[in-house]
Amino acid sequence: MRYLGCHLSSSGGSLAMVRTAQKIGANTFAFFTRNPRGSKAKEENPADSAAAEAALRELSFGKLVAHGAYTMNLCTLDPEARVFAADVLADDLRRMAALPDNYYNFHPGSHVGQGTQTGISQIVDALKKAMEPQYPVTVLLETMAGKGSEIGGSFQELRDIIDGVGSEYVGVCLDTCHIWDAGYDIVGDLNGVLEEFDRIVGLNRLKALHLNDSKNVRSSHKDRHECIGDGHLGLPTFHNIMNHPVLAGLPMILETPNELSGYQREIALLRQMEQV
Ligand code: FE
Ligand code: FE
Ligand code: ZN
Repeated sequence: MRYLGCHLSSSGGSLAMVRTAQKIGANTFAFFTRNPRGSKAKEENPADSAAAEAALRELSFGKLVAHGAYTMNLCTLDPEARVFAADVLADDLRRMAALPDNYYNFHPGSHVGQGTQTGISQIVDALKKAMEPQYPVTVLLETMAGKGSEIGGSFQELRDIIDGVGSEYVGVCLDTCHIWDAGYDIVGDLNGVLEEFDRIVGLNRLKALHLNDSKNVRSSHKDRHECIGDGHLGLPTFHNIMNHPVLAGLPMILETPNELSGYQREIALLRQMEQV
């Protein structure tokens, strides 16, 4: 049994997301901690969080994978904007304590011309500060497509961030579209890519997956998600992913261009691929 889910709207609260997930055959889900393109966070509602927590336990859901706002760039050029982004991160981690022991995934950042090393050290500084209070949440660095000046397009860059922070509460969320667009051949050699990940980052750091097909060819550095089976990854690749022993037990989140009914179909399709 794999943990499969998709991005859900958080506007109705946490318990509503659990119910929606259940309805579409999901047993995990992702949600934006705030407007994905803005910065406004939703109201906190302890009663709703407690009810959601109880429902998650009762339904034996896998860990949830919250997603930080796309606009949060921890290594942006303007120092004031950088402080603001770091404050958003810290506030998100504090809020995640309402649903303890889940994951908080985010895009490491874009260095916008400052250079990879500077970008990495700015990301490390922000994470160290935001993680100081030790909230019960593991942060996940997302593997990126390497679009523009994005950091996280190579396993080594993720390793460098992890080493810089030096905490066991930093993991990785592997996005299938992103690593393909970044150049990793998960179509021809999934085993080889996972071995490389293990060598550089360590499979113990791999905590979640984003399942997306890609509209583009390998190494395109584009980051355009496609529905499962309709892109350059194709169904056999997802079959391999669904049955790879190393990936069993990890929450797998769809971020494909779909409405709820489409997600429901893709979850059913992926579950059919599971052989054990
Ligand atoms: Fe993402
Ligand atoms: Fe993603
Ligand atoms: Zn993407």
